[in-house]
Amino acid sequence: MIIQDKVALVTGGAQGIGRAICEALLKKGAKVVIADINATQGKLTAAELAEQYAGKVIFTECDVTKDKSVERAIKTVKEVYGTPDIIGNNAGILDESIPQKTIEVNLIGVFRLASAAMDCMRADNGGSGGIIVNTASIAGLLHFPSFPAYCASKHGVVGFTRSCAASPDMEVHKVRMNCLCPCLVDTDIVKCWTEDGVKQGKILSLKPLQDYGMQEKLKPAEVAAAFIDLVEDDNKNGVALIVPNDGPPKCAEFPAY
Ligand code: NAD
Repeated sequence: MIIQDKVALVTGGAQGIGRAICEALLKKGAKVVIADINATQGKLTAAELAEQYAGKVIFTECDVTKDKSVERAIKTVKEVYGTPDIIGNNAGILDESIPQKTIEVNLIGVFRLASAAMDCMRADNGGSGGIIVNTASIAGLLHFPSFPAYCASKHGVVGFTRSCAASPDMEVHKVRMNCLCPCLVDTDIVKCWTEDGVKQGKILSLKPLQDYGMQEKLKPAEVAAAFIDLVEDDNKNGVALIVPNDGPPKCAEFPAY
């Protein structure tokens, strides 16, 4: 897909990976709606990005755990810029003390927005379709000790993505779906992983993570570059990807661990 002039909605876009995805899309000429539960940070980010990309970026408050909130966000996108072509289904939390909430945000939230977006891409785009990129995690492909809810939610996102992408219905409506499976990225969400030596030690001892450069944290911009790669390459559909930290940003197919 050529990104220039396309319309994008990015959840969790107020900060971290989501913000980097918004910036990368704007750089490519997209119009971007930042959707986030954190209105203070979301408005600030939108205002900062608008300094460089005036008229191309807005913020809308959105809680991906609420049907009405997601419907409102889509409505806002349509009213301001038109039917969305690109969805960054990226909002996420990591808090094992609230396992149900983790599943609600990370998995059901992804399901909710993807379903709403797919409906709207089919009905309104007259068959021109679009792309949905879900932010999963390497924790969606490997088991991380001590993070059962997070791992379950991200494994769910990988399974959801693969199933949707393989659906003949998606092909008919020209909607692609992919997910990103990054290693550790330098954002707020991983503070507890890196500040808790015991947890960090357990995670880093997993050999696959050593193989894929887990020790050094990725930059959000590297994940955003992988996101752009998925959007631009029309052949990418349903492949769970990892973003290895071994030089220039790139995507690689994940082997069958
Ligand atoms: P972050 O905490 O910086 O950003 C997460 C964003 O999601 C925040 O802006 C937050 O307000 C928003 N959010 C939380 N709950 C929400 C809800 N109910 N509705 C809407 N927005 C909500 O963390 P991040 O690292 O940028 O995380 C982005 C995504 O990347 C998450 O899905 C996370 O699981 C995934 N991920 C992160 C890493 C990492 O190491 N940082 C690695 C792999 C995957």
